[in-house]
Amino acid sequence: MARSIIIIGAGIGGLSAGCYAAMNGYNVRILESHARPGGLCTAWTRHGYTFDGCIHNLAGSTRESGFYPVFEELGILPATPMHAYRELIQVERPDGPPLTLYTDLDRLEAHLQTLFPKDGAATRELIADAKRFAHFDIMGLSARPWTERIGLIGALPLLVKYGRLTMDEFAKRFTDPFLRRVFPTLIYDWPQQSMLIFLTFLGRCSIGDLGWPMGGSGEFANRIAKRFHDLGGTIRYHAKAQSILVENGRAVGVKLADGTEERADIVVSNAYGHTTIFGMLNGRYTSPAIRDYYAHPEDRCEMGIHVSLGVARDLREEPHALILPFDKPIEIAGEMRDRFYLQLFGFDPSLAPKGGGVIRALFATSYRRWEELAADPTAYQAEKQRIADAVVAQLEPRFPGITRQVEAVDVATPITTQRFTGNAQGFKASVVAIFLGMIFGRTLSQTLPGLANFYMVGQWAGGGGVSGAAAMGRNVARAICNGDHRAFVTSKADVALSATERAKVAA
Ligand SMILES: Cc1cc2nc3c(=O)[nH]c(=O)nc-3n(C[C@H](O)[C@H](O)[C@H](O)COP(=O)(O)OP(=O)(O)OC[C@H]3O[C@@H](n4cnc5c(N)ncnc54)[C@H](O)[C@@H]3O)c2cc1C
Repeated sequence: MARSIIIIGAGIGGLSAGCYAAMNGYNVRILESHARPGGLCTAWTRHGYTFDGCIHNLAGSTRESGFYPVFEELGILPATPMHAYRELIQVERPDGPPLTLYTDLDRLEAHLQTLFPKDGAATRELIADAKRFAHFDIMGLSARPWTERIGLIGALPLLVKYGRLTMDEFAKRFTDPFLRRVFPTLIYDWPQQSMLIFLTFLGRCSIGDLGWPMGGSGEFANRIAKRFHDLGGTIRYHAKAQSILVENGRAVGVKLADGTEERADIVVSNAYGHTTIFGMLNGRYTSPAIRDYYAHPEDRCEMGIHVSLGVARDLREEPHALILPFDKPIEIAGEMRDRFYLQLFGFDPSLAPKGGGVIRALFATSYRRWEELAADPTAYQAEKQRIADAVVAQLEPRFPGITRQVEAVDVATPITTQRFTGNAQGFKASVVAIFLGMIFGRTLSQTLPGLANFYMVGQWAGGGGVSGAAAMGRNVARAICNGDHRAFVTSKADVALSATERAKVAA
């Protein structure tokens, strides 16, 4: 009889592990606390507008990526058309031409030389290194066999050169005051972002990777959930796991919040790492590395506040990402802000009614501040409303008339994310350690010491980002097969495309 697996959580890691386990003949059930699949990879609708909660850049949107075959197996490709960005972001200023981070690196170099001639040497070096990163599929490493991963040892000098530098540290090398000020904002307005990520983004975008799956994050997750169902898996929604049942050092099932128990031969958790290890398993199966990692929670939530606006305005000609600096800072969520980071989804018409568009402003914020605010629902709601009003007012000069065009508004906070996905604070991990882990195939907690028949999958266990979580699902299913001395097999989804979908893919 087929061995049974329970997976806690239908995030991308859980769904992927479920698909691959089902491809290999396991009997798989997913228990999901929310009402839909996807976890963080999600979207929601308001008055006909779809507000995306996740993807900006998807590693694996080009055939050259190690993730591409994973997406073929998970039913994403070829059904989902991938949009390659022409620019990574645009930074505007009132007194000069915008800085556009073109994904065509030759065009970008010429543009930077024109705007910042005194910083010619630094930008030349940057572009030359970005071109080298184009051919290091660092993000796709976890989906590649070890023989190919070892080949990427050639990237080590670049990893060392840029690994310890953050964007704001690197910015000090420029002499132009505008470039110095805005350079740290170029990846999601995340100044402490590693230069490794920046160069990887520039390099990989230049070959068409790190694009956008048309339809967005919700549609993306739905397609994998459908693949899971087609493979015979089942998902039980509104099913919150409370603890993992352990007998004689083996995971044997899950106790749910409603008091019921579900049993299986193998348990996989895709839930928030801290909750899994220190809540559901009561901290009984850890290592010094795991304890050290979870000992340092981060209060700062990058992109923790999402202000989504559905507007009766055509955004097709706008850049898809924009930094909008302003001279007079305004207060948002207890912090003075001198710029907005915006996403403008005019490039994906499926997200808005005809003639309309979606804008999302994202802000870093303090987790603790929102946790305290949420204790008083009236104050919490009032703060969200105040933020929405401030954002719309500040957008008016750049988008004249927008105040009257707003048809739908939504403000999500770290508490919203926690309520719907169980994810709370982040934890600090070194980017170099993450990349080295990918090259050598090591994860923080795919398994836990002393606990048999148990696996973790997803961003907390070692599979970062949507694509990393998807690839980790595959790796976990392979590990389960290895443990059972079974050959690991995969199959591509037999996706029958509709005529409209075929036309979209061809375009
Ligand atoms: C604002 C934002 C932007 C992002 N942008 C990108 C991007 O551009 N590109 C990219 O690749 N990645 C991006 N990411 C990261 C990406 O979303 C995550 O790394 C990835 O989706 C994590 O997937 P996961 O499998 O680890 O699980 P999660 O998404 O954390 O899902 C876990 C699932 O488990 C469920 N669960 C939790 N506890 C329980 C329980 N007790 N019982 C039952 N079910 C439970 C949750 O409801 C959830 O469905 C972004 C994330 C955010 C927040």
